[in-house]
Amino acid sequence: MINWYPGHMFKTKKALIEQIKLIDVVLEIRDARIPISSQNPDIDEICQNKPRIILFNKKDLADIEKTEKIIKKISWPQEVYYSLVDTWEFQGLREVWRIIDYVHGQIKDKWQKKGLRPRPLRGIVVGIPNVGKSTIINRLLKKSVKTGAKPGVTRGVQWIKLSDKLELMDTPGVLWPRLGDQEVGLKLGATGSISDEVLPVVEVATWLLKILLEEGKPEFFARFSLNGNENIPEVFAKIGQKRGLFKKVKEPDYDKIALVILKEFRQGLLGKYTLDNM
Ligand code: GDP
Repeated sequence: MINWYPGHMFKTKKALIEQIKLIDVVLEIRDARIPISSQNPDIDEICQNKPRIILFNKKDLADIEKTEKIIKKISWPQEVYYSLVDTWEFQGLREVWRIIDYVHGQIKDKWQKKGLRPRPLRGIVVGIPNVGKSTIINRLLKKSVKTGAKPGVTRGVQWIKLSDKLELMDTPGVLWPRLGDQEVGLKLGATGSISDEVLPVVEVATWLLKILLEEGKPEFFARFSLNGNENIPEVFAKIGQKRGLFKKVKEPDYDKIALVILKEFRQGLLGKYTLDNM
């Protein structure tokens, strides 16, 4: 996992701003469970008013209604198109291609007015770690292989031609998450955008359990045989008992239990959740 010390952040930002000068459209990936907290803090500056397609990925794990409500409340800058997708199951990609077609049509008109020859849009996939950038590139590529995706090189940059409307930069731009805000950190930790090795897992799982208990979804209670009246230490104890996770006799292994909670939450086994609020 990338360590975003300020020097690294600064270098990445500078490099991306240069790369984006070659780009016609930015495909920004966010996590549908944290539609606001999975945003890079400098994204508007990095995108330099280029048309932006925001894909809220992992729709299968999110409380879609809540996510949609949040997205509708955001005041978007001009030329932002968005869609909820579940790239794992190839859900929503048709809509993505439809948006790409539309943006291509708009830009093609501008090119033609300037007497330029139409060509595929040049795009880049960007987003914070673990939101599904590589998966999305692979999924878009899979669909295009049949129609002859081929690599090309322009000014030292590798492009993959996905269709006659879109060429993608072959490597995604990995952006740093919003750092320094404790609650955002907990959300990024819970959803897996910060590596468990550097995560205070018991703290994150405790924070998450509070939400899981409040929301009271049947999947969560059933998964760990809870009755819904437990407090947080009791939940830890019950999961420890159920999964045999003890340090010594009768002392729950909090680290291991926390990892179980986080892992199963991220797999969607405890229900579908959106952790941002607006
Ligand atoms: P990247 O770091 O942004 O390139 O993210 P990856 O493409 O490597 O995906 C991170 C993890 O999320 C992987 O384990 C993927 O299998 C998983 N993933 C990607 N898209 C989806 C999705 O739509 N739904 C679910 N449930 N998992 C996904």
